[in-house]
Amino acid sequence: MREMEERGQRSNRRLVLVACPYQGHITPMLNLASLLHSKGFSIVIAHTQFNHPHPSGFPNFTFAPIPNCLPKDFLSSGDAAAIFASLNTNCEGPLRQLLSDMMAQDEATESKISCVIYDTLMYCADAAAHYMKLPSMALRTSSIGTQLIFSELPWLRREGYFPPKDHSSKDPVPGAYPLRCKDLPLFNGDPEPMMRVIAMMLDIKTSSAILWNTVDCLEKQLSDQVQKKCHVPFFSLGPLHKVAPASPTSILEEETDCLLWLDKQANNSVIYVSLGSLASMDEREFAETAWGLANSGQPFLWAVRPGSVRGSEWIELLPEGFKEAIGDTGRVVRWAPQKDVLAHRAVGGFWTHCGWNSTLESISEGVPMICRPCFMDQNVNARYLCHVWRVGLEFDVDLDQKEIEQAVRRLMAGEEGKEMRLRAAAFKDQIELSIKKSGSSHTAIEELVNLIISL
Ligand code: UDP
Repeated sequence: MREMEERGQRSNRRLVLVACPYQGHITPMLNLASLLHSKGFSIVIAHTQFNHPHPSGFPNFTFAPIPNCLPKDFLSSGDAAAIFASLNTNCEGPLRQLLSDMMAQDEATESKISCVIYDTLMYCADAAAHYMKLPSMALRTSSIGTQLIFSELPWLRREGYFPPKDHSSKDPVPGAYPLRCKDLPLFNGDPEPMMRVIAMMLDIKTSSAILWNTVDCLEKQLSDQVQKKCHVPFFSLGPLHKVAPASPTSILEEETDCLLWLDKQANNSVIYVSLGSLASMDEREFAETAWGLANSGQPFLWAVRPGSVRGSEWIELLPEGFKEAIGDTGRVVRWAPQKDVLAHRAVGGFWTHCGWNSTLESISEGVPMICRPCFMDQNVNARYLCHVWRVGLEFDVDLDQKEIEQAVRRLMAGEEGKEMRLRAAAFKDQIELSIKKSGSSHTAIEELVNLIISL
């Protein structure tokens, strides 16, 4: 009863959440929004007009588009550093205006904006909130391990370790255990512009707290290390997709029919394959992957995002004879309902690019992985998966069908795979405990709610 009253009182407290317009960022932000809404707060999602979340899945939220935030040709340039820098320069003014309009409306009602919560890649939101004299909090959507190495990049660059001269070198990076040169974050081309964006992202300026989509049973030691250097409270709230009420966070439409196909497969027999929302492959890699999966003899579900095979719209470049060879043992979809897929009893392995959301989603369901990182923080996540948590198989050779076939067999039918599955299952249990009453994430969420109320 008291809890209901408290929730009722919180509904006039608005939280403005500023999302970064990419799937891997939108998902944790929407999950956080659903979580805070379930605690009684009113939610406003401020978002760009491109790659925007779908309001229809969140009838209780207000969606506020940020106008004119990026010239069209920027997006298609694929230059991540230029996109993020420009996004932040262009969004600050419109965000201030948005906040100012909301505050003007609030004067006529009992409502007030309690806090602006922003994805750290949308660092301009901190400045906009500060200008409007509103408290702010930063949401980090990558792992703590990644943030630690990001903060060391200037030093590593000065000392000549970054970017590594040899991207396949297994030499350790001084002071960066467990990372080797090949595990350092990978940027395309000149690293300087991206390092400038990262420096802005790491500096939380006037924010009152840092929120992480991570969980103590994976990163407690690292979080203690970071917390010591951090002058504001620090909350490991995740995995957010497990603590928040289920919500439709996909920008692309999910092909849910594949779940019916999974229903017909044996327990732990299917390997799920996905490169996430940004990574891509060329025609040769695509054909090798196709034959590697087909020849492994293992049932597979392969999410091939439209545009992810360079030079084609979708799967026109599948090799001749592939469809006939696989019959009903494999399914290819454009976009999978990944969280449901990984939670399905038939899925026994995940070939992943090691994005942080995919990493958390797989471990949370006790699914071991074949780790094939592509860029940015994925190398770092892969190293932790394979070497620290030991639930992933390192796949760092050329994409060749024989190698793929063997890796799939090792994970799905080999002794190593069995051991990794047991370790992943143990993490799944620990994560379930973390999100229950008195668990680390549950406690962090309660503390965060109290902090927001006190602002
Ligand atoms: N995802 C999905 N269906 C797919 C592929 C990916 O729902 O077919 C989701 C996945 O569940 C995850 C997100 O897209 O939440 C990808 O985020 P991640 O951090 O793993 O990688 P990114 O896309 O940022 O590289």
